Amino acid sequence: MKILKVGDKAKAACETCQAFTGITYQLRDVPFSDGSGLTKNILAGVCDVCGAVTVIPHQSTPAICSTLERQRKAVESRLPAHMLDILNLVSVEVGGNAALVPQIVKFYLHALSNQTLSPVGLGHYLSTDLASGKAEKRLSLKGRYVAADIEVLKQLTSLPSSTDVVKSVVLKINDDILVQHKEESIRYLSNLVAAAA
Ligand SMILES: [Zn+2]
Repeated sequence: MKILKVGDKAKAACETCQAFTGITYQLRDVPFSDGSGLTKNILAGVCDVCGAVTVIPHQSTPAICSTLERQRKAVESRLPAHMLDILNLVSVEVGGNAALVPQIVKFYLHALSNQTLSPVGLGHYLSTDLASGKAEKRLSLKGRYVAADIEVLKQLTSLPSSTDVVKSVVLKINDDILVQHKEESIRYLSNLVAAAA
C-alpha cells in the first residue's frame, strides 16, 4: 500500500464537477455517508477545481472506524444502588477502583456469552433478595461487544430484557468474588484490572 502525504497529487472523478479532475491530498473533516457524524482532520483527496472531497484513501479508514466506535451508543441499565456498590467493592477486591467497574461487567458479559464462564443458572439470581430494589442508579456500558454479548445471553438464559441480563450478571459477579471468593475469577479480574489501570 502506498502511503500518501499531505500535498500529494493525483487524478480522480469529481462528482460535483462531473469530470475527471486533479486532486490534492489534504486534511479535511469528512462526514459519514449517513450524516450521523464526521471524522475530523483525516487525509482526503480534494478536487483542485471545486474543493469537494472526492477520494478517501485506504490509510484514513482506521481513523474513521475509531470515530464510529467512539460514538457508538452505550448500553444503559438502571439498577438498584446496592448493585453499583457490589461492583465497586468487587473492583477494589481485585485491585481496581470504581472507574474500572464497566470493564469488569463487560469481561463477565463476554466470558458468559462465549461460555468461558458457564451461564447456567444465571436467571436464578433474579429471584434472590439482592435482585430487588428500586432502580435508582445507572450503569453505562460501552464497547464493541456489549450489545451482541447481551443478545447472546438473552438467548442462553431466556431472560427477556437487557437490564435483567445485566442484573443477573452483577449478582453472579457478587457470588463469584465477594461470596465464594473463586480463585480463578479473582485471578482473571486482577489481570484485567492490572492491564486497564
Ligand atoms: Zn470538483
